[in-house]
Amino acid sequence: MMYLSGSKLREVIEFIEQDSDSIFCEQMKVGESLNTEVLPTETDDYIENIHKPYVLYQKNENVTQAKINLEFVEGANYSGHSSSHAGSSLNDEFKAKANSCLSEANKHMYDPATGKRLEIVLDSSAPKQEIEIGAHNHRSNSGEYNPNIECSAIVHEVLHLLGLKDSYREEQSGYTMSDAGDLEFHSNLSEAIGVEIKFDQVNGNSVLVKDPSSDKTYSLKSDCRSIGPMFSIMSDNQTTWQRSIDGGRSLLSSAHFNKIVYPGCKTKNYYYDLCTKEDDNGTLKNKPTSGQCLKNTDSFCNDSNFSKYISHGYQNQVEPVPYE
Ligand SMILES: [Zn+2]
Repeated sequence: MMYLSGSKLREVIEFIEQDSDSIFCEQMKVGESLNTEVLPTETDDYIENIHKPYVLYQKNENVTQAKINLEFVEGANYSGHSSSHAGSSLNDEFKAKANSCLSEANKHMYDPATGKRLEIVLDSSAPKQEIEIGAHNHRSNSGEYNPNIECSAIVHEVLHLLGLKDSYREEQSGYTMSDAGDLEFHSNLSEAIGVEIKFDQVNGNSVLVKDPSSDKTYSLKSDCRSIGPMFSIMSDNQTTWQRSIDGGRSLLSSAHFNKIVYPGCKTKNYYYDLCTKEDDNGTLKNKPTSGQCLKNTDSFCNDSNFSKYISHGYQNQVEPVPYE
């Protein structure tokens, strides 16, 4: 029997860790599947829920599918909507809608660096994700849709389920958080609160100042978020959607593609994870106590660097493999 200790043991452990990372960094063989539930979950204080479970399937050499199983239910805020599908259930109606939006999106989803494609498909064999249909006047999120939700927003929300984070600046609407950590949604922030929104010099995100008349301090729920390029489905979904349909651009950056297709590969996702670790969850957990954005310690994530990293690489974009 051989015993290992000290630095040799450390070397062996590092080798095993690197090796298990590299398994998830290689493209799967054609016909292989991977349920992302088997991937190790981050247990870091402020990184959690890297994605909801989905199933990856290598359809052919150039196309990876992400299979998701959406089930639509009436949420607590649901107050009815005008259906164009009389007679079909809410679930069937929104599934059909999601399906048609994803079919269009699939024509425009590829890695700009390699031209390889991602297809997102609804599949009842994948782990089920329940999505509530809520009120008309509410902003959609990945677990609750406005009944009038458009394709660009459905695709944006589905991409959240697959691990992508928001990269837009909260300006006109959003959640505020009180010092006690209570959240409140406002469709027009400056009007609702009566204070000017100021922009943080360090990370470029917006902050709300103290309201002198009410002596209340407000901050935005997501003001630690790293701001990505404007033309991104995770920043401005409507403009980006239209631009992809009109101009044939990919809806995804390479960083987005890698995060979805190689969710277990730490090396491919290193910078994306680093800069998005402080989206909603991180902010909620840390702001009430520390009042500090942890991201500020990672200078790479400051505006221009992060933006450059997740940009769609328009100059270097290769032709995608033909969509079939
Ligand atoms: Zn979002």
